[in-house]
Amino acid sequence: MKYTVAIRALCEFTAKQGDLDLRFTPSPSAQEGIAGHAIVTSRRAAGYQTEVSLSGEFRHLRVRGRADGYDPAQNQLEEIKTFRGDLALMPDNHRQLHWAQLKIYGYLLCQKLGLSEVHLALVYFDIGSQKETLLRELHSAEALTCYFEQQCERFLAWAEQELAHRAMRDRLLTSLRFPHASFRPGQRQLAEAVYKAASVGCCVLAQAPTGIGKTIGTLFPLLKACPGQALDKLFYLAAKTSGRGLALDALALIKNSEPALPLRVLELVARDKACEHPDKACHGESCPLAKGFYDRLPQAREAAIAAALAGDLLDRNALREVALAHQICPYYLGQDLVRWSDVIVGDYNYYFDISAMLYGLTVANQWRVSVLVDEAHNMIERGRKMYSAALDQAGFNMVRRSAPAALKKILDRLNRNWNALHKEQGSAYQVYSSVPEKFLAALQQSISEITDYLTEHPTYVDGKLQGFYFDALHFSRVADLFDTHSLFDITKEAETSTAGSRQASAVLCLRNVIPAPFLEQRFAAARSTALFSATLSPWHFYSDTLGLPKSTVWVDVESPFSAKQLSVQVVRRISTRYRHRDDSLSPIVDLIAAQYGKQPGNYLAFFSSFDYLQKVSMLFSVRYPGIPMWEQSRRMEESEREAFLARFTSTGQGIGFAVLGGAFAEGIDLPGTRLIGAFIATLGLPQMNPVNEQIMQRMNATFGAGYDYAYLYPGIQKVVQAAGRVIRTQLDQGIVYLIDDRFARPEVLRLLPGWWKIECEQRST
Ligand code: SF4
Repeated sequence: MKYTVAIRALCEFTAKQGDLDLRFTPSPSAQEGIAGHAIVTSRRAAGYQTEVSLSGEFRHLRVRGRADGYDPAQNQLEEIKTFRGDLALMPDNHRQLHWAQLKIYGYLLCQKLGLSEVHLALVYFDIGSQKETLLRELHSAEALTCYFEQQCERFLAWAEQELAHRAMRDRLLTSLRFPHASFRPGQRQLAEAVYKAASVGCCVLAQAPTGIGKTIGTLFPLLKACPGQALDKLFYLAAKTSGRGLALDALALIKNSEPALPLRVLELVARDKACEHPDKACHGESCPLAKGFYDRLPQAREAAIAAALAGDLLDRNALREVALAHQICPYYLGQDLVRWSDVIVGDYNYYFDISAMLYGLTVANQWRVSVLVDEAHNMIERGRKMYSAALDQAGFNMVRRSAPAALKKILDRLNRNWNALHKEQGSAYQVYSSVPEKFLAALQQSISEITDYLTEHPTYVDGKLQGFYFDALHFSRVADLFDTHSLFDITKEAETSTAGSRQASAVLCLRNVIPAPFLEQRFAAARSTALFSATLSPWHFYSDTLGLPKSTVWVDVESPFSAKQLSVQVVRRISTRYRHRDDSLSPIVDLIAAQYGKQPGNYLAFFSSFDYLQKVSMLFSVRYPGIPMWEQSRRMEESEREAFLARFTSTGQGIGFAVLGGAFAEGIDLPGTRLIGAFIATLGLPQMNPVNEQIMQRMNATFGAGYDYAYLYPGIQKVVQAAGRVIRTQLDQGIVYLIDDRFARPEVLRLLPGWWKIECEQRST
């Protein structure tokens, strides 16, 4: 059996030395890179070959890759690298890596064409000036053969142990048994759908109720599918830490069942959580854990793999321990270990984001991966955020005031462009069909100059400038992708007074509405993707907005719960419409108190906003002081959230007031008598405002159901999620009050779970 490795991955393993150094990054965006390559190759003479596929073997190793260009007339093989900033400041180890890759390509080309020598050229293309810098060397085939064999030798021992690991992993996965005595009702249906999707290579959108064991019900079948489908890796992606925690628990259970499974499970955590030196920058002159990072990485990598094989999960703590024992950065150690792990657990953005690492590595290494997306109803909102960007002029003005003198001129120029946009706009909010080119050009120039400045002043640390820099880079990348899936709008802000002068400002926003065009590439790159959640109805809303392929299978797993367990009452006499809010307060508090009087216990009451919540809770506390109550507040700390939930004990009594769509409306588990009922005083419809009206128009133009796609479906999804807190097991009993006459409308009733038995009170006038 051969071990296949991409040329870049081989060189990163064998030829990367010295410090971790992100000063010369962020590099140009993928679009800029593609455009840069196209410009360079269009400048070459006729007969120039692009994207030259090359491969070769050395013992158990198969090495493959694609060289950027070959000019037969000059016998010159070229590797094109796009960059921003001053090339002289590129760290040496970046340059060495580029030469290493090119020499491997050179060897493979000599083999392919029977050449005795070849010119190797590194072509550095400056995105800003569009100029090329060419570094050229002549190499004999003999010298290149020697280099190739040397690099392969260095990798071979690692490749052999990788092959042995893969063989053992797949052998044990073939005989893997379900870790519980039996499947729960509905769990088998879900597991079969996930297994089948991996077998035929498609996506599955699975609506599966809470309590059936979705985490293990999706991980287990996918692990079983690995050997047959030759899957390299599984990605388990979740929107919340709690979801990732459940996945790690399930994987620990599977891994430590009999016989123990040598599965390498890696948890990816955000940089700000993994960073040991938040006050430093990621390069050797600033951070001690970046100094000599690549020199100590091999030992750390081996120690991590040994720990994984000994039974550990490579979670946040384990990774930190290994990294610190070898004095390297835990965050970047985690990134390296992605290449050598079987299951990776992380946030959605590692695969779906604009510059997602897992997606990038999957494509570059041609991995066969299957993806699990937990609580997938969050994907639309999260997808939109990933492909949106905003720049706030008020914040920028603070950056401008404290920026170094060398940047003053360019930042002032950007500000003048910003002011011009502000001046030209008559209304407070306006949507435009394109992003103004002059502004973008000034932004690009600012990015280039800040890049140069930060590279030239490695110890300069200014959080505000750095924050603006990253926002500007993201904005410029998103602007490159602007199309009908997004809106570009400008919101004028109230004038502020600084040092006696009035200052106007505007927020520029690239607002993604339909993430489908971006996410569809992600689905296409995976062997299979299973998206699951308790609330994925109607399925066309999710498949349209997320860009799921036509072949996607829709599975609606039957609920294990019965109508007898949950009483659902529609309270038609109360309207929660904005204009009726004040009138609704009194009947709502009486309704809650009456239910509590009938059956004391723990309840959650959900409202559309903090403002509404506070009005109701205030009246409730005055009118019913004897009933215990506690409420959610804005921006609660984790400890405060824990304290809120801790009040829901199995013998407790009282009302928790919370906001629909907030921290307590989904992803919390209060089984048995910890929660016996919920009041939902809103349809969850997004607020009607100019932005949401624009979203509705765009949805209407794209899908023809603007109101449903912009308001109704997202609103009802939140209601069902919140109501879903009440029944968590087949033994639970509870009640849900849906407070508003609109809940009785047929188009709303159709969106509620089929197993609910809904009673609509007669309307009284
Ligand atoms: S510890 Fe923090 S500052 Fe240092 S390299 Fe890691 S992420 Fe960067």
